[in-house]
Amino acid sequence: RPTIVLFTRDLRVRDHPALAAAVDRDAPVVPLFVVDPAITARAARNRIAYLREALADLRCALRAAGGGLVLRRGDTVREALRVAQETGAGRIHLSADVSAFAAARSARLHREAAAMGVEVAEFPGVTVVPPGDLVPAGGDHYKVFTPYWRAWESHSWRGMVAEPRHLSLPAGIDEGISPDEVFGDAGVGGLSALRQRGGEQEARRRLGAWLSDGCACYERLHDDLAAAATSRLSADLRFGCLSPVETARAARDHPAGRSWVRQLAWRDFHHQVTAAFPDIAVRDYRPRDVQWHTDEDALEAWRDGQTGVPIVDAGMRQLLSEGFMHNRARMITAAFLTRHLRLHWRHGVAHFHALLTDGDIADNCGNWQWVAGTGNDTRPNRRFNLLRQSRRFDPEGAYIRRHVAELADLSGADIHAPWRARTPPADYPKPLTDLGE
Ligand code: FAD
Repeated sequence: RPTIVLFTRDLRVRDHPALAAAVDRDAPVVPLFVVDPAITARAARNRIAYLREALADLRCALRAAGGGLVLRRGDTVREALRVAQETGAGRIHLSADVSAFAAARSARLHREAAAMGVEVAEFPGVTVVPPGDLVPAGGDHYKVFTPYWRAWESHSWRGMVAEPRHLSLPAGIDEGISPDEVFGDAGVGGLSALRQRGGEQEARRRLGAWLSDGCACYERLHDDLAAAATSRLSADLRFGCLSPVETARAARDHPAGRSWVRQLAWRDFHHQVTAAFPDIAVRDYRPRDVQWHTDEDALEAWRDGQTGVPIVDAGMRQLLSEGFMHNRARMITAAFLTRHLRLHWRHGVAHFHALLTDGDIADNCGNWQWVAGTGNDTRPNRRFNLLRQSRRFDPEGAYIRRHVAELADLSGADIHAPWRARTPPADYPKPLTDLGE
């Protein structure tokens, strides 16, 4: 009987354990992706654009191996079981995932498939080390990064699996609609000119370029906002167009790869936290007694990059125009919202999720809670001095000037604090709050 491989955010053919295990069974394989409105209705425009390109690319790769990609629209579980009925499939394979949504989907799939006599098997594929594989003595997951990183680095990561060469769809099933038809107009208008094309081929090209040209300078330049010297592989990892294991192995072999590999461990860290605490998007991981304020105008100014604090506005405007923000700017803008304006981190999560191409529940919520002091930071009361951050990580103000046109003519230290300039720019707002250096 055929095996269905239900793709979710593992949109690749290389090093794909669920797919490889299906191929090993020597029966027809039905690769399936379901465009589920429960996810796509809330997804950022740039994410939809990435997804439709990644699906087109995946279909090409599967066809090249003799198979194809069946594309359906609707509720993922219902459609997967419908395809199982149409093809007589006896098994469904998928990559295990961690969000509350993924956990509920998996539980339903197991239950409803069992009632039809269909087996469901989950495989690793979304992280380098699967959540739950590393646990501290006396706990079910790591709550602090440094010990996790030590255990993660010395763990024997799984070996890579072979790419499928000979696929065939069972007779009588066709691939159905194309990614363009299934998405209609979604994800085609209002996109950033700087956005990256989605798909495994493009992602692999970016990874190759990063390892040969970028990685060597990462340690020195990763926090330099104007240099933009990070990999920008986050969306490729988020959609699984890159295998996390293959990526980590390739970087580990790079002479200067260690500090970058550490970032991949941060990604795994937040995933294992989310697996253990699926409410991460809605509840404090470590409840903290904070009096959150309500201030719609301040929230709107923050979202629009009109706070009057140049380094914050530069980050927020980068997000609006590119669907991406530098990690250092994400920390600064998040600290401004939660520590200075005292607005709830959930507002930040929602806004980032609505715009980031790499928007991901575990990484977005884990990092927001970290900055807000309700997450895994061992120093939850740490204070971010935003002016100092601005001077340190954008010393010439080049990042600010790139994103905040009204300040382009300011010189020297005024770029970081225009309210102190002899003649502050008339078209730039005064700071929303006193940064009290
Ligand atoms: P690089 O510096 O080149 O890092 C390589 C990879 O490591 C990244 O692609 C990413 O997969 C991973 N990584 C790096 N830093 C982190 C981190 N702190 N936490 C988890 N993984 C990390 N990352 C997301 O992928 N999706 C999100 O929704 C997201 N939301 C964030 C929200 C806030 C408030 C903050 C502070 C950080 C957030 N991050 C998120 C983490 C980080 O900012 C991005 O992964 C990074 O900026 C992406 O750029 P890059 O690929 O050039 O990163």
